[in-house]
Formats: sequence, structure tokens, C-alpha cells
Amino acid sequence: MVVFRVVRMSASPADLVRAFHHAFGLDVRSTPTRVPPELAAQRARLLAEEAAEVAEVSADGPLDKLAHELADVVYVAYGTALVHGIDLDAVIAEVHRSNMTKLGPDGQVARRADGKVLKGEHYEAPDVAGVLRGQGWTPAPAEV
Ligand SMILES: [Mg+2]
Repeated sequence: MVVFRVVRMSASPADLVRAFHHAFGLDVRSTPTRVPPELAAQRARLLAEEAAEVAEVSADGPLDKLAHELADVVYVAYGTALVHGIDLDAVIAEVHRSNMTKLGPDGQVARRADGKVLKGEHYEAPDVAGVLRGQGWTPAPAEV
């Protein structure tokens, strides 16, 4: 039997970023919702900028700069989820649950020759739509 230890921070990034959004008057939604296209595009630009900053320092930048830019990506990703009313912690938990099904029942990891982890016969895809429905999401007809 494989046991996974859960390490908790004192506060989820979701809590920290929610406090930031409240302090600065940024959008906060509590139900998964489509947002105006200009707002969605602005969030996408912010995230792309931060991801580019990670790429700039990842190869040969100082480690503290890499850590900072990684934190910026996570912070902006949580903020983008908050703007869309998505409880990202719950989505991450579902993606993690799915990822762990890549392990065989014996705890062994199946790998391809180049090292890529294979999904295996016990793999279960994440049910992100189910998580969002649990948060109150009603998909538009085009989203089903
Ligand atoms: Mg940055």
C-alpha cells in the first residue's frame, strides 16, 4: 500500500490571492462563470507574461529569480481562476487524483523508453467538468 503525505501551507494560495483581489478591487466570483472577453484576454496576457518570465530565467537565471517567477505564475493562475469563479484547489485535487492513477496497483510506474510516464490500464482522466458542476457551473450549450 502506498501512502501519500499531504503537506499543507498555512493558507492556500487561493486564500492569499483572494485577499489581494479584495484589497485591490479586482474581480472575485464564487461560481464558475464566463467573463467578458476583454477580461478573459487580460488574464490570459498576464499569465503569458509571467510564463515568459519563467522561461527567461529557467535556464541560467539565479534560483531566487526562478522561484519568484514561478510564484508569480501560480499567483496569476489562482487570480485567473478567482476571476472566473473557479475553486482551483478543488480542480488541482482532481487533476492530482487522476495523475496518481498512472501508478499501477503495485505502486510501479510504467515508463516509455524515453522516460515519459505512461498512463497505464488503471488511468482515470480528470473529471474537471464534474468538479465545476459541483461548484455550481452550468455549462452553456456550446460548452457541453
Ligand atoms: Mg513576474
